Amino acid sequence: MDSLQAFAQSKLSGLETRSLRRTLKPTHRLDGLWVERGGRRLLSFSCNDYLNLSHHPPVKAAARAAVDLYGVGAGASRLVTGDHPLLSELEARLARLKGTEAACVFGSGYLANTGVIPAFAGPGDLILVDELAHACIWAGAQLSGAEITTFPHNDVAALRALLETRRGGFRHALVATDGVFSMDGDLAPLDRLSAVCWEHDAWLLSDDAHGIGVLGGGRGSAHLFPDARIPLQMGTLSKALGGYGGYLCGSRAVIDLLKTRARTVIYATGLPPASAAAAIAALDVIESDPALTAAPLEKARMFTRAARLPEATSPIVPVIIGEAAAALDAAAKLEAEGFLAVAIRPPTVPAGTARLRLAFTAAHPETEILRLAELVRGLIGAPQAAA
Ligand SMILES: *Cc1c(COP(=O)(O)O)cnc(C)c1O
Repeated sequence: MDSLQAFAQSKLSGLETRSLRRTLKPTHRLDGLWVERGGRRLLSFSCNDYLNLSHHPPVKAAARAAVDLYGVGAGASRLVTGDHPLLSELEARLARLKGTEAACVFGSGYLANTGVIPAFAGPGDLILVDELAHACIWAGAQLSGAEITTFPHNDVAALRALLETRRGGFRHALVATDGVFSMDGDLAPLDRLSAVCWEHDAWLLSDDAHGIGVLGGGRGSAHLFPDARIPLQMGTLSKALGGYGGYLCGSRAVIDLLKTRARTVIYATGLPPASAAAAIAALDVIESDPALTAAPLEKARMFTRAARLPEATSPIVPVIIGEAAAALDAAAKLEAEGFLAVAIRPPTVPAGTARLRLAFTAAHPETEILRLAELVRGLIGAPQAAA
């Protein structure tokens, strides 16, 4: 065996013995709620399709029409010939929803963070990241070449102390956090973070992948904090909007700089027309149906009340199990009952906090939510401490 094969094999067996090896499982998502996996039909609590828009007929129709009109691909990066007309329409819609001057669309949320952060921070700058922030924030920070420091989760006092002691040694400072934390479902205190950032001339980036479409009347988590001033509002089109793509909303100058300097804009092909059209159609739904946008959180709260867990603050509810093997076991028990609740293990979450991460959508039936709550109470025994 050559050294490459030996390396891959030994890595795999190391992961296997720690219950950390992951494998793909082909999944047919039937309708934005039910999935077919391994020959079985399961009710999914593991999709981020909070508004079930991935299968919404007008959204699908918009994607099909865009294929007919513009083809399946953008053909090139946006700065060459890939800037098809749907992209500027989508950007105007995103800016309007978020109340910013402008927006820049990226190929995905991951590409947004890995493009945005290095465009605004580099060597000589300081980036402060919430310890539970999403992996692509870390990736962007690392690519930037700036000095990176973490602050304890949602700890505004600790962030202030760090800025007081360290800010002076750097040219610029950028603070990055999830607006809704992807594996815990809790919210960042964006009003207080924003106040500390303004005190210390630090630029706040909030990643609202799990807030757009489902919080603040569909406008996202920042809308829950009217006093927060967030100059870099990032998010994705791949969760509540049901499709694919990412964005940054901000001032005109910020967006113009991204369009000429962000490497994931310059060196990556533009978002396909169908994805842009689907996102526009999804925004039509979000802007016209406030009851729909409120439903995922209501469903999550119905669950947390019935399961006697701390009240949900977003459609994401973590059920902390502990060890990876135990989390896999819990997921298997729920699957035997017809529920898909995928176990989330390190390194996605800290060691010892493997969990079932439940995501509630507008269309989850009440009877099934209550049945799941009953099963989860059996799995975890006593009520959990606040997450
Ligand atoms: C999913 C997610 C992303 C990545 O978005 P994609 O569009 O899937 O690439 C970024 N940030 C957070 C917090 C996420 O949950």
